[in-house]
Amino acid sequence: MAERIPESLQKKIEARLRYHEDLGIRLFYRERGATRISYVSSAALATPASPIPVFEESSLPKSAPKPKLEPEKTSTPLRDVLPPPTGPSLFEVVDKVKDDTLLKIREDIGDCTRCKLHKGRHKIVFGDGNPKAELVFIGEGPGADEDMQGLPFVGRAGKLLTQMIEAMGLQRKDVYICNVVKCRPPENRAPESDEVSTCSPYLLRQIDVIQPKVIVCLGAVAAKTLLETTRGISQFRGEWLQWRGRRLMATYHPAYLLRNPNAKGEVWKDLQKVMAELGLQVPKKNKS
Ligand code: URA
Repeated sequence: MAERIPESLQKKIEARLRYHEDLGIRLFYRERGATRISYVSSAALATPASPIPVFEESSLPKSAPKPKLEPEKTSTPLRDVLPPPTGPSLFEVVDKVKDDTLLKIREDIGDCTRCKLHKGRHKIVFGDGNPKAELVFIGEGPGADEDMQGLPFVGRAGKLLTQMIEAMGLQRKDVYICNVVKCRPPENRAPESDEVSTCSPYLLRQIDVIQPKVIVCLGAVAAKTLLETTRGISQFRGEWLQWRGRRLMATYHPAYLLRNPNAKGEVWKDLQKVMAELGLQVPKKNKS
């Protein structure tokens, strides 16, 4: 017979599950075979910046110089802007896959029909870039262009993201870019909580395989998913946060910047912090 878990722990787990259910997250990823994903319901589980006016779409550098690595740097301190989790995280119940690779993850996703987003998609948008990147950008979900091409951030917002990356002295092939959900939500709506909870285990596996130093969440969906918070992104945007032993920064989504160009300066400040963390120098072209 299975051993009973201590009552205090059970209470903590139940409280945590209630919290997730309040957020609309009801499915927990628990077991994983070589090629099959299985789910278990939460009830069952209860047992300073350089002053650069950037991202003027026309004025950003077309080709970026090779990033320079500084030999010595000190990490900027993490500010405690989010309360520490009070119980086991959603992500702590995600098992590690032994010898996992991006290829295995893609194979496990297969021709996915696990959530309703599969009905309208053309192509699964898995992710793209350097599988050993130090920097990973995470967006929300594919749009129309991404859905047709099977690649993340290739539409208008994607062009802006590319320019942001190049302004940092990097190229797209230097970083890894992916999304919380791998299929396009209809009418570009935000992914719903069941879609996020179904797809996010693959995102976590991608991050575990890549092991980036820094994760940049583009927009509220990515930030709220990884940080498991309902707080608005403006409350912690631009702050260094700790996420499963990695440095995470949330900034505005490029699509938001297309609608609100005035926020580009804020995003550039955030990206400069990321550059400092990675020991990257602002390319001369972008220095004022
Ligand atoms: N917006 C996203 O969040 N991801 C993409 O891949 C494209 C647009």
